[in-house]
Amino acid sequence: MLEIVEHDIVIVGGGGAGLRAAIAAVEADPAASVAMISKVYPMRSHTVSAEGGAAAVAREDDNFEMHGYDTVKGSDFLGDQDVIQYFVEQAPRELTRLEHWGCPWSRNEDGSVATRAFGGMSTKRTWYAADKVGFHMLHALFQHSLRFDRIVRYDEQFVTKLVVVDGAVRGVVALDVREGNMRLFLGRAVILTTGGAGKIFPFTTNGNIKTGDGMALAYREGVALKDMEFVQYHPTGLPGTGILITEGTRGEGAYLKNGRGERFLIEYDHGVGHKAELGPRDMISRAIIREMEAGRGVESEWGLVVHLDLTHIGEERIMSKLPMVRELCQIYVHVDPVHEPIPVRPVVHYMMGGVDVDIDGATSLPGLYAAGETACASLNGANRLGSNSLTECLVFGARAGQHAIAFAKGSSGANQSACQDIAEQESARIESLRARKGGSERIAGLRAEMHHSMETGCGVYREQDSMDDTVRKTTELRERYAALKLEDDSRVFNTELIAALELGNMLLVAEAVAVSASHRHESRGAHARRDQPTRDDQNFLYHTLCHWDSGGPRLDRKDVTLGKWEPEERKY
Ligand SMILES: Cc1cc2nc3c(=O)[nH]c(=O)nc-3n(C[C@H](O)[C@H](O)[C@H](O)COP(=O)(O)OP(=O)(O)OC[C@H]3O[C@@H](n4cnc5c(N)ncnc54)[C@H](O)[C@@H]3O)c2cc1C
Repeated sequence: MLEIVEHDIVIVGGGGAGLRAAIAAVEADPAASVAMISKVYPMRSHTVSAEGGAAAVAREDDNFEMHGYDTVKGSDFLGDQDVIQYFVEQAPRELTRLEHWGCPWSRNEDGSVATRAFGGMSTKRTWYAADKVGFHMLHALFQHSLRFDRIVRYDEQFVTKLVVVDGAVRGVVALDVREGNMRLFLGRAVILTTGGAGKIFPFTTNGNIKTGDGMALAYREGVALKDMEFVQYHPTGLPGTGILITEGTRGEGAYLKNGRGERFLIEYDHGVGHKAELGPRDMISRAIIREMEAGRGVESEWGLVVHLDLTHIGEERIMSKLPMVRELCQIYVHVDPVHEPIPVRPVVHYMMGGVDVDIDGATSLPGLYAAGETACASLNGANRLGSNSLTECLVFGARAGQHAIAFAKGSSGANQSACQDIAEQESARIESLRARKGGSERIAGLRAEMHHSMETGCGVYREQDSMDDTVRKTTELRERYAALKLEDDSRVFNTELIAALELGNMLLVAEAVAVSASHRHESRGAHARRDQPTRDDQNFLYHTLCHWDSGGPRLDRKDVTLGKWEPEERKY
């Protein structure tokens, strides 16, 4: 039997963006009821693993103009300037509010909020709580959300489909992971806050749950995915696991060194100028690859790496500012950064692209909103600056919550039987997938082929031929997915079924990334082509829109909202 649950709005995701949206919605309308559905317990959302900090103007030597310009320049002029303006103005309010809700920001001696330097930022504006920022932020949000009994949580429920009737979203269908039954959630607005999709790549800082579910949910219903070609590689991942070593290390003064022990960002011209280790992520990741290609990498048991050197920083400072970094290095690469350099290499970290939304978080589908990493409001353009993302979850999570609740109030209820029909069909689809015996394809096989193809075609550096190969491969894999074979037909915590659903989502997202990348014939931000190494504003200063259309991706474009900052050469 299909269970039906009704709320005013339905939020999919319980990470930073989802929790902030839920709180904003019930604050805007205390009578409203909000369903918050999450495939894991909210405190296990990827936000919890953020280390380095959240950006907002705090110091006297800083202002909105500077934060705005840094973000526009970091985005390689693809960020929308109205969105950026709103973001920088709201950022300090949001971080202060979070402190009132219990987030313990680190302090200076005089009691003011401590800030650290981060890549591409022209002054210290990254607020932090040692190197466990995501944990403290998520905790503060989660605890605060418990004050509102109108926020009703549905943990360990996997949303598989949006319910769209008469051209508007009316709710979602979800699989109860604990029991295996399906549930229809009716709501007059839905907010997707499902996070990123780093797991389409093999080597990533992202947790296993970051499989692009929300992007796939929206895409299947005709909502465009925007700027998917821009995938952020973080310069400093631990080899082997991909565990992130935060940019906060460089903010505290760490050096990057090549196999000759040189600070290569200073010794050789990699375009980051005087910023050196505090350059933006796209440029530093490319510099590392170039050092390796020039024979100046460091041979290690994990292959080629470079060194991140903290030894001059001293044990006391490392223990007060970066204790988790030390612990991670000791456990995972058996290196104590107090005494030895850390082996690192670039690692897939963040999706600049996502569900196409406007400044209110609204998509082209009435009633559907998105915020956080799954959305693309065009704050980050072609390259995100480190520490803007956590703040983005707060600023645009809140705004999406407010707008979704206002939309819900003005919208009439859905035709319930039409919604129920969709949910019944979806239940039947999931039932037929559960232990589908006859197929020839295995989850692990398709996933491995996707990983290999994405790494080869959509890496730090790209070329037309390999991107085209990846387009063909991801399309082929998406089609082969129809012949998937599963073994486990149990109902309680059927992790094989979840993995199958996630793979289906990842294949759609991977294809959208590859198709979008292969059509951008220039280099901009994180999309760096060897065969077209320069930026071409004449022909490519636009957002890529990827639509799901007649069983395949179709590309379109959207103007960039410019403003007071004219595109110029991006030099540091
Ligand atoms: C290791 C690491 C460190 C980082 N450090 C920083 C940093 O220092 N500063 C910074 O600004 N950014 C940082 N980032 C980026 C930032 O943390 C993320 O972009 C941000 O936390 C994303 O938050 P979110 O709310 O959008 O998604 P998430 O926190 O990923 O939450 C997604 C939620 O959606 C739910 N969900 C997903 N799919 C489904 C589904 N099908 N059904 C139901 N629920 C679903 C999940 O259960 C989860 O609750 C870091 C990222 C990583 C990986």
